[in-house]
Amino acid sequence: MTKPLTIAIDGHSSTGKSTLAKALAKSMGYVYVDSGAMYRAVALYALRKGWVSKESGCDAAAIESTLDQVQITFELDADGVNATFLNGQRVEEEIREMAVSHVVSHVAKLSEVRRHLVALQQAMGRNGGVVMDGRDIGTVVFPNAELKIFMTASDDVRAARRKAELDQKEQGVSFQEVLENLKARDKADMERSDSPLIAAEDARTLDNSTMNREDQFELVLDWTKNLLA
Ligand code: C5P
Repeated sequence: MTKPLTIAIDGHSSTGKSTLAKALAKSMGYVYVDSGAMYRAVALYALRKGWVSKESGCDAAAIESTLDQVQITFELDADGVNATFLNGQRVEEEIREMAVSHVVSHVAKLSEVRRHLVALQQAMGRNGGVVMDGRDIGTVVFPNAELKIFMTASDDVRAARRKAELDQKEQGVSFQEVLENLKARDKADMERSDSPLIAAEDARTLDNSTMNREDQFELVLDWTKNLLA
């Protein structure tokens, strides 16, 4: 039997990375890991402790010294959602709220946080057969991944998609707020010194501004199957 692949999907915020990664993992029988959920869970933990705010950044020392008390796990629920748990409590919905989106970049730029989460991510993908999405998967977490994809799309398309997602959860967030948050997160992710968001040299770019989900899925499934052939 051919060795199962490691598939890294990186890219800008709200480009549909997790939707594509989930569909691909399901179709291949691979494990899906949402690395962004892990950064969001640490950000939520820090938010609850009062160690981070949108305006004043974060208390790096406090966050870094308690990382071993932050347990992040994933559990498949009855609806087939790979839900995120923080110290045993389901936080899948809360980590997607704007309050967390506004502070997550402050937490994600801390080297200690990155080192801690990267080690967990590498352990989850140790045996291959994994699709992981994030910002540094093809560059840092799995530099030897057999398939690396870098996703992007126009700002307006991304903000509209994210707003539609948030609207379903009745958060009452404006398009402008969503757009500004996306741009601010991308800027912070691209400019941080530790593991900035950048396409790996050997990544295949997927600009899905004008592509539907089905076409993206077919294209990426083709890439995957060609690698296994
Ligand atoms: O993927 P998602 O948008 O949920 O990620 C939330 C935030 O977590 C990103 O804006 C980024 O700051 C951070 N992140 C990261 N490295 C990853 C995944 C996410 O820095 N591998």
